[in-house]
Amino acid sequence: MVSDEIQLQNLLLSSSQSVTDHARQKIHPITQQILESGSHICPLISGTLVGPLKVNEDLTTLDEDLKILESEFKARTSVHSNLAHRVKKSLEEKDEKLITVNTIEELQKAQVNYTNAYFPLSNVEPPVGVVTPGNCYPHRRTAIVIPYRNRSEHLKVFLRHLHPILLRQDIEYGIYVINQVGNGKFNRAKLLNVGFSEALQHYNKYDCVIFHDVDLLPEDDRNIYTCSSQPKHMSIAVNIFDYKLPYNDIFGGVTALTPAQFQLVNGYSNEYWGWGGEDDDMYKRIRYNCMSILRISEEHARYLMVRHHKDKGNEIMPERFTLLKASLNRQPYDGLKSLNYTVHNRMFGVLYNNISVSIGEPLVKTMTQEEQAVHFGIGIVGIFIIYILLFKRTCS
Ligand code: UDP
Ligand code: MN
Repeated sequence: MVSDEIQLQNLLLSSSQSVTDHARQKIHPITQQILESGSHICPLISGTLVGPLKVNEDLTTLDEDLKILESEFKARTSVHSNLAHRVKKSLEEKDEKLITVNTIEELQKAQVNYTNAYFPLSNVEPPVGVVTPGNCYPHRRTAIVIPYRNRSEHLKVFLRHLHPILLRQDIEYGIYVINQVGNGKFNRAKLLNVGFSEALQHYNKYDCVIFHDVDLLPEDDRNIYTCSSQPKHMSIAVNIFDYKLPYNDIFGGVTALTPAQFQLVNGYSNEYWGWGGEDDDMYKRIRYNCMSILRISEEHARYLMVRHHKDKGNEIMPERFTLLKASLNRQPYDGLKSLNYTVHNRMFGVLYNNISVSIGEPLVKTMTQEEQAVHFGIGIVGIFIIYILLFKRTCS
């Protein structure tokens, strides 16, 4: 898929062609050069990849490293602003003014000198919070959505590790951290649904959404962060599973779906509160819609999971098997179509975007294992008391 900017420029070129051949000659030479040179469109596989990577887990330099990364990001110019700069500079040298037009019709009506006509770059330049390659036009655009609560150290390690990889992959991307507000039960799947809709609301040109646990770090940059014709499972070989797939139908950790694939299955179920089940539910949705799971080579799809304890509020959900059984019945209504949440804060930043949300509570409150034990104990004591009372009555 060619970037919109190139398409717009092609449109300008073809429109001029149809106006007169003479006009075509008058397209700005720099614009023409960019249009005619395929080398300015990012290659499918970037030449700057390095292969296997060592993960830097050192926490002592973390804040400092992120500060440096942030200032580098602030100083870098995107391919869009590079182009704008080049065109503007060249016109300034010739003491000419840049004329911007929004549509072909406008261009024709204005009867401007085609030499200076240029579509405004602001129309195609991505917003703050989207990172774009520095020296070629991206044709792949990926939103990375992270379900999140109270894992700030993991997030920092993730950002320090992932940005350099994504920059090398020459894709346009934005990172969306979806932060669940409050101490209620954690709901990974619902947060991922929120992330999907927030990311596309922010920048509707994404052709891929990657759903990404914050504690998973890719160990090879040949694992390209883009989508495929089928939903893609990316975290195939993870250290905690001895770099082997724990079971064939697994679809958790890191997954990539195009907006069309995600919408076809109505996103994730919103009903999985606490740990487990939501990823298997998604697997079922995908299979039910006649799609298959794509996996790249396990040599490239290696991940390191940062060691961690189970989080408070994300206890195992015992009811997940019952929910899974009825998964396909719920699919048409439970998901993106029934999604509701309240946004507390949206922050679009240089290194990542943070969206803090309230996502509510489970309809039927599920008990933690401790609560179940307490209830069981109360039950036994109750039965015992009733027995004593009955026994007393029969004796008196
Ligand atoms: N998560 C989080 N805070 C929590 C619980 C979970 O941010 O309190 C997010 C985080 O992105 C994490 C993912 O949900 O990587 C999956 O949870 P967890 O790591 O506990 O699952 P597992 O390690 O069993 O895959
Ligand atoms: Mn984990």
